[in-house]
Amino acid sequence: MERILVIDDEASIRKALQIGLASEDFEIDSASDGASGIQMGQRKSYDILIADLCLPDMTGLDVIKEIKSSSPAIIPIVITGKGSMQSSLEAIRLEVSDYLEKPLSLTSVKASIARGLERRSIKRTEDRPPPSPGGTADGLTGLPERSQFMGRLKQAITERARDRDRSLALLLLDIDSFKGVNDRYGHHVGDRVLIELAARLKTDGKQAGMTARLDGDTFAILLEDPPSDDQVVAAARKWQRAAEQPMVVDGITVSVQVSIGLVIKRHFFNSTDDLLRDAEMALEHGKERGGGRVQVFDAHMLEQAVAALQFENQLRLGIQKAEFTLHYQPIIQTCDQTLSGFEALIRWNHPERGLLPPSEFIPKAEEIGIINQVGQWVLHEAGRQLKEWQTHIAGFEKIVLNVNIAGCHFLQPGFTDDLQTILAENNLEPANLKLELTESVLMDDSERAIEIIKAIKTIGVQLAVDDFGTGYSAFSYLQQLPLDELKIGECFVQKLGTSTECYEIVKTIVKLSKKLGLKVVAEGVENESQLDKIRKLDIDLVQGFFFSRPVENEAVPEVVRRFRQPRLI
Ligand code: C2E
Ligand code: MG
Ligand code: MG
Repeated sequence: MERILVIDDEASIRKALQIGLASEDFEIDSASDGASGIQMGQRKSYDILIADLCLPDMTGLDVIKEIKSSSPAIIPIVITGKGSMQSSLEAIRLEVSDYLEKPLSLTSVKASIARGLERRSIKRTEDRPPPSPGGTADGLTGLPERSQFMGRLKQAITERARDRDRSLALLLLDIDSFKGVNDRYGHHVGDRVLIELAARLKTDGKQAGMTARLDGDTFAILLEDPPSDDQVVAAARKWQRAAEQPMVVDGITVSVQVSIGLVIKRHFFNSTDDLLRDAEMALEHGKERGGGRVQVFDAHMLEQAVAALQFENQLRLGIQKAEFTLHYQPIIQTCDQTLSGFEALIRWNHPERGLLPPSEFIPKAEEIGIINQVGQWVLHEAGRQLKEWQTHIAGFEKIVLNVNIAGCHFLQPGFTDDLQTILAENNLEPANLKLELTESVLMDDSERAIEIIKAIKTIGVQLAVDDFGTGYSAFSYLQQLPLDELKIGECFVQKLGTSTECYEIVKTIVKLSKKLGLKVVAEGVENESQLDKIRKLDIDLVQGFFFSRPVENEAVPEVVRRFRQPRLI
């Protein structure tokens, strides 16, 4: 059973968490001020610490610092008032697992705890050093290990706190995808690579400092009183080149790519943890950009990290506060230009930035694992809206509403149950709903995907493949699936006039689709000449700015009116 310590001066919050979390099988203690919270945290060991940022006697961050020094593995979560940048910045430095903005909801607290626990278990697995003959890092490479290095770093910082003219540089070096080396050549070769690297990374004696192996494939180099920033960067590049020279291990030539994160400090110093965090942040920054780089830390990175964290939090809150909205783009019959259906397209009404398109938040929602919640909202809202239109707009019963479904949402257990509930709640004909899936969903995890697709088909809901042609699905594969429609992405449509190759590809796609009994939609039609080509290609349906941009729900009756009369060409 996980133990949680809650420190908040508001009795109502303490009580709500106590009751709400106890039912989840957590053991909860609470304190109303910083001093008693610290005492409790030092007397007993807790897994999670939830602390208000503003306590009557001290700040929540001071409390966390204090408790972390005796229980380094504790997962700190802070509760803040409306977004304060400076404290979020501090929070990141302290490796606060998460921060929650007031007013709190129990769901977000629980989610935050779950994330913290998950991260801790991942970190524990990662922190385990690879198996090596000597057991400890020290044993393998002969270099000083983490605790020794941290001691030296601490001493160096203390000296520089007294003498402000002195400086230091901390360099972290890490192999890009060391796992690949181990997987490909075996751990024995991996170990030998680390030994060889250790030898290449030693400081040359002219320069005061220390090289250590922190863990796994991460090495740290401390340079005391380096002459200039440029020289530190030059030295880092030299080490990088040295590390990347091919090495021969057991007759095999192994080359690795390494990333270096670098922090240079002059005149003011933070704690060892701060320095290490900054170097790690620089290292991560470089790795995210493809690796193989020497990346010097700058405060901008911290701001970016804070901004990213804030954005994530806003997105999570956005779901709770229902800040999303759907816009609807008509899908038109090519033959007579009457309305066939609408595609629902999500937008987020961001509290500061206004209406955001899906490209700005859907990938993030996928990354942080909340795309299912977003998708559920979309399905519910689409179902509700469709019913409303059917009730109020004459002739709407024939209109089909397309809804985009993210891959992982679709593969989620209970997806088809959810779908059935939405149909039942709104008393909808299943055939009036069409789900758009991307090719990659159909290709990944295909057996499970086929199973769900078949279940959806049994329910009677229609299925479309979105952005066809951008992925790699083979027609022979699509043939096995009970699909209704294939949507050709705008990149193809836009090249129809300029590339004969593209034209031929689309022609083949249309021909094969007809054979399989699939309808074809051309997306992104922007002008008359594209429409002409589409007509010649005998494509059934069209969608694009030429007919209408996606519109708000209020504008839908007007769109229905506009496309009511057949226009024969
Ligand atoms: P998509 O499903 O292929 O949607 C078509 C996109 O093309 C829409 O962008 C639409 O506004 C845009 N478009 C329509 N006509 C034209 C045109 O004539 N020219 C050009 N250049 N573009 C046109 P939007 O709304 O920004 O959506 C982008 C993508 O985000 C969608 O691509 C879809 O993959 C995803 N998406 C949208 N709504 C949802 C949702 O509710 N859930 C999920 N999981 N994804 C969504
Ligand atoms: Mg779509
Ligand atoms: Mg599309």
